[in-house]
Amino acid sequence: MSIITTTHHIKVAQDYKKNGGVIEDTNISLEIDTLRVYPASVKLAILYMTADKGFFGDLESFYDFTNDFLMRDINIMEFVRKHNMRINKQASFWDIMKYALAGEKPVENIPPFSRCPRCNALVWEKTERAYDKTEKELEPENEAYYRRCLEAYSADPRPLYCKICGQRFKMSSTSLMYKGEAMQTGISHTLKLMSSAQPTFEEVMK
Ligand SMILES: [Zn+2]
Repeated sequence: MSIITTTHHIKVAQDYKKNGGVIEDTNISLEIDTLRVYPASVKLAILYMTADKGFFGDLESFYDFTNDFLMRDINIMEFVRKHNMRINKQASFWDIMKYALAGEKPVENIPPFSRCPRCNALVWEKTERAYDKTEKELEPENEAYYRRCLEAYSADPRPLYCKICGQRFKMSSTSLMYKGEAMQTGISHTLKLMSSAQPTFEEVMK
C-alpha cells in the first residue's frame, strides 16, 4: 500500500463564544503516495512548516488555507505566494520554496532506528506520529517497539522521503545513505545490542 495519510495540527486562534462554545478541529490530513516524490514531499514540507511555525488568527483564514492546500491541481508557487505569512511569518517566499524543495540528505542513525535529518521522526515506524512517542516506547530495548521498527524496515527498506516532513532521503544504488559512521557500524552492531531472545535481522527478513 503506497497511499498513506499524514496529519498535522495547525495552531488557530478560536473565538469559542462566537462559535457557540465549540472548538473546531484544526488538523490537516494529507494523503500521500509514498512511491512518488512529487508533489507529496513538497506539500508535506509546507504542511510541516505550517504546523511548526504557522499561526492563524481566525478559522476563516485557516479554512481558506486548507481549501487551497488540499486542491488536487495545486500550483505550489502560487500557493506559497498567497499564504506566505500563514506558513511562516519569519520566512520569505524563497525561504519557504527552498525548504520545500530541499536537496536529498542522508538519514541519521543506523536502521531500523534511523531518523529523519530534518524533523527527527523515525524513518521506520508504522504510526504516523512517531515523534509523539514517549521516551520509554522509543528505547531500542523495548522488544515490541524493536519488532515494529524492524517489520517496517523490511517492508520498505528504501523510503524516498520522510512521511512526516517531506525531507527527501539520499540513496546509494542499493540502500539509503546514512550519516557519518552509521554505514560502517552497520545493522549487525545494532543487533548485538539487542537481547539474544530477539530474532536476528536475517530471521525477520526471511
Ligand atoms: Zn522528517
